[in-house]
Amino acid sequence: MARTQVHLSLDVKGFLKNAPKHRYRGMFRHDDGRLMTPDEAKSRLLDELAKGNEFLPFGKCDNFDPRSGCLGHPIEESA
Ligand SMILES: [Zn+2]
Repeated sequence: MARTQVHLSLDVKGFLKNAPKHRYRGMFRHDDGRLMTPDEAKSRLLDELAKGNEFLPFGKCDNFDPRSGCLGHPIEESA
């Protein structure tokens, strides 16, 4: 039976609803590498939600559905 690995994802809606402001600090960076302020990070999340992206991946995930999260990756079993 093949095992799968699933990446953690951020529940955008849940985060916006529940996270205290300090949790937004250091979440995202601007393209030039500067950290976003909590207000900037929050509007970034609101933008994602407006685009229909309800989940954001943590780390590199190449099988990601923005409406439900990581779809899973099969793990090669060593024989
Ligand atoms: Zn994944």
